[in-house]
Amino acid sequence: MLTIDLSAIQANWLYISSVSQGTAAAVIKANAYGLGASRVGPALYSAGCRDFFVATLEEGLSARGFLPSDSLIYVLGGPRICETQEFIGAKLIPVLCSLSQIKDWAQQNQKQNCTFPSAVKLNTGMTRLGLDRYEFNFLCEDADLIKAINPVLLMSHLACADDPSHRLNSVQQQRFAQSAALIAKIIPSIRRSLANSSGIFLGSKWHFDLVRPGAAIYGINPQPKQVNPMMPVVRLSLPIIQVRTLDDDVTLGYGADASLPKGKRVAVVAGGYADGLHRTLGKQPEGDLCGYRVRTIGRISMDVTLFDISDVYLPSDQLLGQSIEVISENFTLEYLSNKSQLLGYEVLTSLGGRYKRQYLSEANHD
Ligand SMILES: *Cc1c(COP(=O)(O)O)cnc(C)c1O
Repeated sequence: MLTIDLSAIQANWLYISSVSQGTAAAVIKANAYGLGASRVGPALYSAGCRDFFVATLEEGLSARGFLPSDSLIYVLGGPRICETQEFIGAKLIPVLCSLSQIKDWAQQNQKQNCTFPSAVKLNTGMTRLGLDRYEFNFLCEDADLIKAINPVLLMSHLACADDPSHRLNSVQQQRFAQSAALIAKIIPSIRRSLANSSGIFLGSKWHFDLVRPGAAIYGINPQPKQVNPMMPVVRLSLPIIQVRTLDDDVTLGYGADASLPKGKRVAVVAGGYADGLHRTLGKQPEGDLCGYRVRTIGRISMDVTLFDISDVYLPSDQLLGQSIEVISENFTLEYLSNKSQLLGYEVLTSLGGRYKRQYLSEANHD
């Protein structure tokens, strides 16, 4: 069972919103980091969020279906060729990342004699999506072209915000501020957005007019070297589907690279690497079973994982129907990601669609 606490997501967003002086958007791409955008989006809307970011047209179309019509939905990858009409039809705001996307959007607007809004993305040091500085300067010399794309947001993305001591943070902040000043001469009302979750905690200089938290609202620690200020959002418990008491010394699982002596007891739980329990969790990730700490044994396979439950003093028939908690207060998302040498982002986005899901909200909170 994957339990997703919507009120914790709301509390995290409100906390970010207060830290950033009320400038918070929310990033709900990748199905809200795997947690279910159609549940998470409306919960954030009711907490007060009005600016939402997704990655693709398909995510944008789906968000249009579950978010109220006064929500602004930005699509981070911008329109691919031939997609502009669909953006306009669903009132999605494309994040234009290249001069060719900018020209297409301008042409579309001119053809229809309209000024559908857009966002412009600038590369300030990430070297992924966005206009390079010379392209941006070129754009700023063409006021007609800028007006034709009706830019309502200028944005860029930080590469090293989770390391506050990295010098690129200030470099990117300055480059962004300079470019924002340039375009503001043509479009004074344009909003500016630089910070992701970690960037928000670098300080108010990085906040500008809109911050774009994803990870932190889902409970991922935005400052990995500090205590996590965010509330936990997910719990994961895996149902026991078989309990076996070993009648001999045996090896367990694929590769037969684990063994246990006669008399020990093993629980087989539903959930494997197809459900985001990566084999890089490595040796002996832990879980909670009725208050006992238990460890996995043998390789995690696609659908099931084995736990050594020899130290759990409860009869086997009582254990069937119980679950082993692998993400909980005791075993946090951060603990699990450290243990598996994965990012919290990777763990969350790969939890997969097979778990039974339960959403907690204010109404059904215990
Ligand atoms: C994913 C993404 C974010 C959110 O980043 P987090 O680190 O999850 O807060 C913000 N901006 C852009 C451009 C992104 O791609």
